[in-house]
Amino acid sequence: MQPLLNIRNVTKRFVRNLPVVEDLCFEVYAGEIFALLGPSGCGKTTTLRLIAGFERADAGEIYVDGQCFEGSKTHLPPEARDIGIVFQEYALFPHLNVLQNVAFGLRKLSAKLRDERVATVLDMVGMTAFKYRKPHQLSGGQQQRVALARSIAPNPKLILLDEPFSNLDAGLRHSTREEIRTLLKDAGMSAVFITHDREEALCFADRLAVMHGGRIEQIGTPETVYRRPETPFVADFLGATNLIDGEAEGNCAETLLGKCQILPSAHGPVLLSVRPEHLVMVPSDTAGQNNGIGEIVTREFKGHDLTYRVKVGAESYVVQTDYCCPLQVGAQVALQAVEPAVVVKQNVPLP
Ligand code: ATP
Repeated sequence: MQPLLNIRNVTKRFVRNLPVVEDLCFEVYAGEIFALLGPSGCGKTTTLRLIAGFERADAGEIYVDGQCFEGSKTHLPPEARDIGIVFQEYALFPHLNVLQNVAFGLRKLSAKLRDERVATVLDMVGMTAFKYRKPHQLSGGQQQRVALARSIAPNPKLILLDEPFSNLDAGLRHSTREEIRTLLKDAGMSAVFITHDREEALCFADRLAVMHGGRIEQIGTPETVYRRPETPFVADFLGATNLIDGEAEGNCAETLLGKCQILPSAHGPVLLSVRPEHLVMVPSDTAGQNNGIGEIVTREFKGHDLTYRVKVGAESYVVQTDYCCPLQVGAQVALQAVEPAVVVKQNVPLP
């Protein structure tokens, strides 16, 4: 299947010729919601601006629907790219009402077609009842829906969303996220959105790219990047994790916690990632001889779950259990991984 958006080896440099994004490659397919996730300064906004045509690439190509938008001899201006953008701060015209804001990008249509299209998209985002209101008379979530309606109205090939939920408070962010994902899916829109919020990327995107220092470290479905990280950075950025040294021999590795299953198989020194919810604590008197015994040093009750810190030798490990685990600080326990540990680095130099 041909991708809708195809980013090939794109590099962008600003000052002192240092690349801000380097050799980026990814594809987005029709109807897919794709996230660029990474910490501040990793190059997410620059990538979005390159796709939109606000920046020129120093190397590489960008294709949309098979057409070259960006290349060594090509730079299609933003207005010719058929791409809709939803900005972080919504960027609605304050002096225009909802109807006029949405109609703004449809000036080329006849009045009749324009009115019909505006009515359709306002209905789609559930804002018909608010059509005569000005942006300042709407909540943040409502403004976000109008911004989405405005970008969808011209029926673009692709929508770009710049940190779309960051201006909303926690409760509204959650519900708006669900609504907007449903809207995009119902409309069959393809979208690229950028965020530094891992939870947002995991629950909003069909696939995501994890960026670090201007490069993509891993691309995959939310489940894959969370459960099978390929680098220490991805393991750590996608959620709490324990990074554990081991000596691998095929599907197993010797670690301070004892022998554990690993994925993928490897040989020699490795660094392993084990999520806190994949470790269980076993009372020391029932643990096998090969398991390192440790002591619980902290216990944090968080309502629906508990987080423990367990010290084994000089290392400490984080363990997450359900809310009713009775073990207390000071207890002697062994730790066992209930899922295979994930190899995030091979040939790790010995300490
Ligand atoms: P944030 O989440 O904070 O918005 P980001 O991942 O979107 O960060 P970018 O805004 O793409 O990152 O910036 C990446 C790097 O490029 C930063 O170091 C930034 O200072 C630099 N940069 C971005 N735009 C320019 C510019 N026009 N001129 C010079 N440097 C720039």
